[in-house]
Amino acid sequence: MAPIDGRVVVITGGSKGIGRAIAFKFAQEGARIVIGHYDPDESAARQTLNGLKDKGVVAEAHKVDVSSYAAVDEWFKGIFERLERVDVLVNNAGITQDTLLMRMDEADWDAVLGVNLKGVFNCTRAVVRSMIKERAGRIVNISSVVGQIGNPGQANYAASKAGVMGFTKTTARELAGRGIAVNGVAPGFVDTEMTARLPEKIKEEFLRQIPMGRMGTPDEVAEVVYWLCSDAASYITGQIIHVNGGIYM
Ligand code: NAP
Repeated sequence: MAPIDGRVVVITGGSKGIGRAIAFKFAQEGARIVIGHYDPDESAARQTLNGLKDKGVVAEAHKVDVSSYAAVDEWFKGIFERLERVDVLVNNAGITQDTLLMRMDEADWDAVLGVNLKGVFNCTRAVVRSMIKERAGRIVNISSVVGQIGNPGQANYAASKAGVMGFTKTTARELAGRGIAVNGVAPGFVDTEMTARLPEKIKEEFLRQIPMGRMGTPDEVAEVVYWLCSDAASYITGQIIHVNGGIYM
């Protein structure tokens, strides 16, 4: 696999969980890393940034709300000013606000669609002009198995993640001729803070349905994201790769 030395990789939601694992994977392969995060308690982001710098990685972390078009635009202007390029964008930031449809209010809907779907649009829009100029670039959007199969209590989340799949395929078609590959990765049930919040009963129910009988790890998702951005995946675009222990086939 060709090294990704010196390339600039931007990962939204890179402070923890899957995003952090993606940041460390690309860093290990020699990339320069920019992570975005949102929590005003910046301890997770600081810990990730320090962990990267301790390994000698050139890395930056910034607080930015991906659901804000203006904030994302400003963020990328700064990245281009400092680093001059973005070679890889990983749209990973995501949230859940779970409740059954009957109880789901407008705020639950807007918040989840804002981060998970509009956030992907905002960041992609911000990098694509430069990638077109370079006639090169890789974009990976983190979707979810739930966008494919649905899940009670997650109408907002499932809709956002199905939207990410449609967005991925459309942008892949629009950008393929410009040297840019756009793919999606749809994790199943992965051990992060997002799933740690779930009630034990729901976790047990999920585990029962997974043929491999266990949760995935953030590293198992990160490996696939990296592979999609490596030369090994040079003829792959518009695909949604499922990383889910067999829960959906
Ligand atoms: P996580 O541990 O909760 O991390 C979420 C990340 O998103 C954090 O870095 C968080 O930053 C960031 N974020 C949240 N709101 C944001 C906003 N408005 N603007 C910018 N960044 C924001 O979640 P995870 O489990 O690693 O999930 C990562 C991605 O994988 C998400 O898209 C999720 O939907 C998807 N996914 C996860 C699973 C799973 O089982 N865990 C399964 C399928 C798909 P702060 O902490 O700084 O707020």
